Amino acid sequence: MTDTKPLLMVDVDGPLNPFAAKPHRRPAGYLTHRMKPDCWIAQHPDTPERHVKPLRVWLNPAHGPALMALPYDLVWATTWEHDANDWIGWRIGFPCEQDLPVIEFGDQSVLRPDGTYFKTWTVVEYAAGRPFAWIDDQIDETDRAYVERHHTGPALLHHVDPRTGLTDGDFAALAEWAARVGAWNTSSPPPRRTAG
Ligand SMILES: [Mg+2]
Repeated sequence: MTDTKPLLMVDVDGPLNPFAAKPHRRPAGYLTHRMKPDCWIAQHPDTPERHVKPLRVWLNPAHGPALMALPYDLVWATTWEHDANDWIGWRIGFPCEQDLPVIEFGDQSVLRPDGTYFKTWTVVEYAAGRPFAWIDDQIDETDRAYVERHHTGPALLHHVDPRTGLTDGDFAALAEWAARVGAWNTSSPPPRRTAG
């Protein structure tokens, strides 16, 4: 089987770009980038593109190798959508020639009647029952409850602090959860899910 590994849904702003850190104190290990991806330009519809101020992004080049070393299949789950492959992936150390799959979220301004984050329905739909972990700075108990009701496999909704970005503790939690999913794959029946 090719899909025995769980999926890892990866957000950019928060886990990879600790945008909420103190603005004049770049976190250790990060490099500063200034960029104007399409998703940023689209947020300034009334400003000519040449006048859009570049977005400052902090990225840690150790994060790509560390994510790739985890026993997951990686998927972008970010408002950057396809821009994540063009602007983010190679800067954190993903291979340039290998784009990650991208979850497309469509209109991000649509409010969900159940109060879930705008990504949550789409992430669950994308997973289609396959075990998945999700790292994001905007998931909460409402989203965990939705996943509990609508996802048939194990899932880990792992909140990452946007003041720090991914930490050693986050990577350890992801590795530990993947190991448990692997154990479930070899014993039946598996528990449906966990939250963390
Ligand atoms: Mg985010």
